[in-house]
Amino acid sequence: MSDFFSTDIKFLKGVGENRGKVLGKELDIHTFRDLLYYFPFRHVDRSKFYKISELNGEMPFVQIVGRFVNFQIEGEGAKRRLHGVFSDGSRMMECVWFSKVDAMKDAYKLGVDYVIFGKPQQFRSVYSISHPEVSAYDPSKPPMGFMGVYTIPETLRKRGYASRLIATLVKNLFENSRFPEIPSVIPEEVRERYNLMPLKEAILQMHTPENAAALNKARERMKFEELFYLQLHILRFSRERGRVIRGLVFSKIGKYFNDYYFNCIPFELTGAQKRVLKEIRADMRTGRQMNRLLQGDVGSGKTMVGFMSMLMAVDNDFQGALMAPTEILATQHYETISEWGAKIGLRVELLTGSTRAKKRREIDEGLRNGDIHILVGTHALIEDNVVFKNLGLVVIDEQHRFGVAQRAKMWKKAAIAPHVLVMTATPIPRTLAMTVYGDLDVSVIDELPPGRKPIETIMRFDENRMEVNRLIARELVAGRQIYIVYPLIKENEKLDLKSVEEGFERIMSLFPDVKVCCVHGKMKPDEKDRQMEKFVSGEARILVATTVIEVGVNVPNASVMVIENAERFGLSQLHQLRGRVGRGSDKSYCILMTKFKIGADTKKRLSIMTETTDGFLISEADMKLRGPGDMEGTQQSGLAFDLKVASLSTDGQILNIAREAADMVLNAHPELVAGRPSDTDKTGEKLPLSPTSIEIVRRELHIRFARTVDWSQIS
Ligand code: ADP
Ligand code: MG
Repeated sequence: MSDFFSTDIKFLKGVGENRGKVLGKELDIHTFRDLLYYFPFRHVDRSKFYKISELNGEMPFVQIVGRFVNFQIEGEGAKRRLHGVFSDGSRMMECVWFSKVDAMKDAYKLGVDYVIFGKPQQFRSVYSISHPEVSAYDPSKPPMGFMGVYTIPETLRKRGYASRLIATLVKNLFENSRFPEIPSVIPEEVRERYNLMPLKEAILQMHTPENAAALNKARERMKFEELFYLQLHILRFSRERGRVIRGLVFSKIGKYFNDYYFNCIPFELTGAQKRVLKEIRADMRTGRQMNRLLQGDVGSGKTMVGFMSMLMAVDNDFQGALMAPTEILATQHYETISEWGAKIGLRVELLTGSTRAKKRREIDEGLRNGDIHILVGTHALIEDNVVFKNLGLVVIDEQHRFGVAQRAKMWKKAAIAPHVLVMTATPIPRTLAMTVYGDLDVSVIDELPPGRKPIETIMRFDENRMEVNRLIARELVAGRQIYIVYPLIKENEKLDLKSVEEGFERIMSLFPDVKVCCVHGKMKPDEKDRQMEKFVSGEARILVATTVIEVGVNVPNASVMVIENAERFGLSQLHQLRGRVGRGSDKSYCILMTKFKIGADTKKRLSIMTETTDGFLISEADMKLRGPGDMEGTQQSGLAFDLKVASLSTDGQILNIAREAADMVLNAHPELVAGRPSDTDKTGEKLPLSPTSIEIVRRELHIRFARTVDWSQIS
């Protein structure tokens, strides 16, 4: 096999030392292979020119030939912008520039033919394109056809990188005289059976499609590849678990559970909580190892379910562990659970990265001799040096990027793998969760505890700030606490920080009598914790933050959630944020702030938030509108891997086929099952592979998933 594809990207014509570094750092393109797989995130059809009169409703990117008939600069300071009126002879539309105003005005002439290209948006009855790409119109040149548009983060744009550069580099790569055959990635046997496009052609068509049909066929091929390996990866682990791993048998419900349930529980469990506890109980008594995903909307009472499941372990002389993604959350859980546990005489301890050495030694001892019944902590608690006497159940709260391989690591912590319960508030449509996790059973809490006051959700423009401030003031007077959240702008961290810090200053001067604290991504973890602690304890009344607070903090006294630039958030994320309020008995508010000019589609998207508080409906709407691959990384859906081409909401069919293929390959080749010797107890249709193909499969699984075992990726 050729090493051509693992060649360092800096050796490509047009790259060199400096660009090579930038591509690696910013786009994760380190090798020729990485570049080939850096696909356009969409394609634009530049084979056709639109007429302005053809624009209708929500439009894709389009190109239009015409002339500017007028330029005008409007506004002052930061609001200064250039308006150009553009006519194609029959109708007019508008082009707007918010930056480089003077340069743009000088660059374009009135009465000269141009091609403008961009996404038209409708404001009132006029179409407008902001920052269109403008080029001279040359009727003798043929139209450009389909073109790829590559993701270029803001930081790179500033340094002059553009989508076109990537297109050129891809072209240079394909034209390299040493470009060999691309080694297969999907085994030939599989490719033939499902009639998939050969790889080289598919990659070429992905970057520079001949036409829509070829692009579709290429996409199908690349999606299949991604989903096939994803399914192989998941099925490998679930087969290992199903076949080799015995489960602990918790045969009895005993003293602790009953004592707590009949004498101590502070409220009546909801029907959904009871049902889920039964499902968990059924799992843990069978001798099969439980691996269960518990989904329940924010505030649905997952913690109590986790706690009572751990009581089942304790009743059978096993220990329970509860793991949370952050120190703050772990501490909150510790406080809750030690209070509950104290009533029935349980010893509960907290272990995090900042546990002092002396305490740590006490904990180590208590874990080994079995004195500690329940250990709560961050993921510090499942590192190798934490040794339990008899770990029976691990509960993982608010999982993020916590994949099958991480769970596998936990199974190996005891001679017999403990049961695992993963709790998440991120609603993944049920069927999707099953297919994607493959090896996880799913329980759903679809009912909130009674007596919750609904949260009033409203949309407000920047212009209505006074009104919003009055609401905040009123709630402060009533003794409540306030969240103000800013989006995390990944491509532009400086701007990101600036908006939070400005917000912080502004709020402090508006409300000089109360303490305000601030948390953002650029802070050191312990500073972050200190600031959060101020808010959790009630010392600070207003928290200004980027989305770091998204996961799980519980401050029942908070009654207002203001979300700045709400249009920049995904719906599921907004839902998570909104779930931070409405936890007490008082009426709460969620205010979605947007700038005045938002497009019709954005408005429609945000209005879903004002219409429903059902997390599942919201998540489904979000998936439909954006596709899960589009959501804030895949962490939105809790997946431990990134899908680049496939979309879980729209590619269900390809997913099913890929799963079938993966199943048949594993039937024929049990030796591929993670780290297990060959056996052939599986019946069902087989798809045998040649030794070369097996090598390909092993190599690809390694390239794609070796990294997901890295603990440092879990946060
Ligand atoms: P989440 O599912 O978001 O983790 P929590 O477990 O934090 O939710 O529960 C939210 C709040 O509801 C907590 O204060 C908890 O004590 C309370 N709670 C849980 N179950 C019930 C119930 N059945 N009835 C009343 N309150 C409940
Ligand atoms: Mg919770």
